Amino acid sequence: MRKERYDVVIIGSGAGGGTVAQSLSARSPASLLILERGDYVPREDANWSPEAVWKDLRYRTKEHWLDDRGKEFRPYTHYCVGGNTKFWGSVLYRLRREDFQATEHVDGVSPAWPIDYDTLEPFYERAERLFHVHGEHGLDPTEPPRGPFPYEPIPHAPVMEELVDKLRSQGLHPSPLPLGLLSPGAPDGCILCDTCNSFPCKLHAKSEADVCCIRPAVRQPNVTLWTNACARRLVTDPAGRKVEAVEVERDGETLRVEASLFVVSCGAVNSAALLLRSANDAHPNGLANSSGLVGRRYMAHLATMMQGFHPFRPNETVFQKTVAINDFYFRGPDTDYPLGHIQSQGRTHPVMAQTAYPFIPLWAYAPWVARGVDWLAMSEDLPRAENRVVVAPDGRIRLDYRPNNMGPHRRLVKETKRILRRLGFWSVVKHSHGSRNTTHQCGTLCFGTDPRASVLDPFCRSHDVGNLFVVDASFFPSSAAVNPGLTIVAQALRVSDHIVDADLT
Ligand SMILES: Cc1cc2nc3c(=O)[nH]c(=O)nc-3n(C[C@H](O)[C@H](O)[C@H](O)COP(=O)(O)OP(=O)(O)OC[C@H]3O[C@@H](n4cnc5c(N)ncnc54)[C@H](O)[C@@H]3O)c2cc1C
Ligand code: SF4
Repeated sequence: MRKERYDVVIIGSGAGGGTVAQSLSARSPASLLILERGDYVPREDANWSPEAVWKDLRYRTKEHWLDDRGKEFRPYTHYCVGGNTKFWGSVLYRLRREDFQATEHVDGVSPAWPIDYDTLEPFYERAERLFHVHGEHGLDPTEPPRGPFPYEPIPHAPVMEELVDKLRSQGLHPSPLPLGLLSPGAPDGCILCDTCNSFPCKLHAKSEADVCCIRPAVRQPNVTLWTNACARRLVTDPAGRKVEAVEVERDGETLRVEASLFVVSCGAVNSAALLLRSANDAHPNGLANSSGLVGRRYMAHLATMMQGFHPFRPNETVFQKTVAINDFYFRGPDTDYPLGHIQSQGRTHPVMAQTAYPFIPLWAYAPWVARGVDWLAMSEDLPRAENRVVVAPDGRIRLDYRPNNMGPHRRLVKETKRILRRLGFWSVVKHSHGSRNTTHQCGTLCFGTDPRASVLDPFCRSHDVGNLFVVDASFFPSSAAVNPGLTIVAQALRVSDHIVDADLT
């Protein structure tokens, strides 16, 4: 087997891996190799084609996973440079201060994190600068202590401005969504189009890991990126105390890449699968799995897409994704339990709507979506040992996931419907991808101080294997109810600093 050697190998180029690559390359002369199983997303007209993205699933992985009943499904995930950030809506939230503490929910306790908000705050600030986050502080009642955003908020379109006023007159506290966009309105910047969330940006004006992290990193002489290079297995020394190499499949060849330090960031499902596939005599149940928790505690948020419809109110908004409602984040109108978060969404295109109800002809959707305003209701799901990633005997990924905490989510959806009806919409339709929505996957390698109750330490270093870090969303002990991306980036910056300061390269 051909061998190569680098100081640091980073596996995966998404939110976590991309950030570590950018941050380490700026601060350390160590030689870095980034392994990415996918390729660059080409800049092409199909980037903004709803047919290509939603009907042909052009950019989604062709891989199939199994659900808890052994039924195959095609996960909503993307293997490419930048990972899922290429397709994200770029809604970049800090967790609330309370999300770091144990919180009572209807179905149980959302556990405390081993670090508090104040520990992550300076890294959130850096993450917002790195990913060009636009927002306005002081309006969201759940906002944690913070200074001003690095960039001005994106103004609401007239239709949304009117809805915001009406939301305020309902006694609610709408606030601008924090959004990562590059130079909106500038000649070479974001044009605030209607194909952002779930589409790659043809202009490279979305703040995502390819544009903000990987491209600047690979311009450094000490950084190498291998695309179409899939990490199959991590190999340890005989005692199992450190990773010696990663076996990589690239262009039909298997290579052995050795390094002093390994930073895994394949996404919460694939990182767990990589560790499980790396079982050996010293780690018979999977690498770094003395706790038995590798792959367990999978979470993904409870998410329902909703659309308010009014037959005589055409919605001319192009960029609609600017409004957040957090009034029910900590408690509902008639319950002391948290319900979750509501945000406006990008415009629904007829092809997208048809994926929910394929029996309705496409032509029937156009007048409908032209009069609709789109929202997302999102609630926290809780970590459960039985919700887990398993590698099936044939090597495929099996995702055993039964959503929990559904009561508060249904309550949030009901409340959102009530709000939309009060805004004058004649009807409200809703749709959920249910347990197969893997977009906010997290929790499978949780971090903590107790090696018996966590896989990673508070710096995301394996308790069992000294030179192994994992920086994707798998470290989350709880899922909270806002989008996960900025927290992944902030913690990846914190981990990078730790690696440099402790001279671990
Ligand atoms: C349509 C969509 C919209 C979203 N919108 C938002 C949003 O608005 N805000 C937000 O905060 N979050 C959003 N998310 C979620 C967000 O994208 C993820 O939380 C985030 O990208 C996860 O970062 P990560 O580093 O864990 O993994 P990823 O970004 O998924 O990166 C993992 C990378 O690892 C690579 N990889 C996997 N296995 C291997 C292997 N064995 N060898 C080599 N490489 C490998 C993958 O190809 C991928 O590039 C959205 C996701 C989707 C799909
Ligand atoms: S131009 Fe702006 S709104 Fe459109 S896809 Fe790019 S980043 Fe998103």
